Amino acid sequence: MSTMTQQSDTEAPSIPHAEGTDLVIRLEQVWKTYQMGDQDVNALAGVDLTIKRGSFWAISGSSGSGKSTMLNLLGCLDRPTKGTYLLEGRNIADTSDDELSDIRLKHLGFVFQNFHLIPQLTVQENIALPLFYQGIIGADASEQAAKLATRVGLGDRLEHRPTELSGGQQQRVAIARALSNNPSVLLADEPTGNLDTATGNSIMELLGELHAQGKTIIMVTHEPDIAAHADYELVMRDGNIESISENPPHPSRSDHGGHGS
Ligand code: ADP
Ligand code: MG
Repeated sequence: MSTMTQQSDTEAPSIPHAEGTDLVIRLEQVWKTYQMGDQDVNALAGVDLTIKRGSFWAISGSSGSGKSTMLNLLGCLDRPTKGTYLLEGRNIADTSDDELSDIRLKHLGFVFQNFHLIPQLTVQENIALPLFYQGIIGADASEQAAKLATRVGLGDRLEHRPTELSGGQQQRVAIARALSNNPSVLLADEPTGNLDTATGNSIMELLGELHAQGKTIIMVTHEPDIAAHADYELVMRDGNIESISENPPHPSRSDHGGHGS
């Protein structure tokens, strides 16, 4: 077949219904303004961005450039002051707090620099926690949590508590937990920030595997070596996107998914 298969990447003016399409996220003229005394601080100042399903993004930029605001917004922890944020075709600007937490539960997974595991719970219980909030309990939850633990290489640590694990293992638990709702998007805030280089690299390999399996990943990092694992590097500056560059396939990715190529 020699038909033109060149993707028409023309700007779609709107996305009536993006679920099931190759677009997961679209920001259109998004502003986030904080009131500081009698001053307005524009943490985000008219951001436009489209994120395709299955792509892997690294967000960087100097302190105060708007990275955390951007990630909080993408993670539906906050709403834009102005503008449109479409997640799976749904405008986040129009949602109530309850709907917002429902969207987080259904569509998003979070990984943090400090892991945020519950110390009293075992590996298996930590991973099963979001399942509980979705009404999945008992043997079903245990079984799913065990599978996820195996997926991140911790199938033999189910009964351990976080304090009995290394930092890298704790981050693997956090990643397994973030995957438990099969999220559309995995959001990671400096996921390797508290890890030594070798451990950080192994976490990046795990994220790379998830990416190869089709997961959409958005990560904040200030480390260029870590950002190089992503397909796209987005640099923030003064509340807006300074640049977006496409990376060559990372060498650690033996089975490159072919996204963006
Ligand atoms: P980064 O994560 O890149 O360091 P932030 O998103 O945290 O940047 O902050 C962007 C800008 O918005 C900064 O000028 C910051 O001071 C301001 N800002 C962030 N959060 C708040 C807030 N809750 N109240 C007031 N100003 C804020
Ligand atoms: Mg920040």
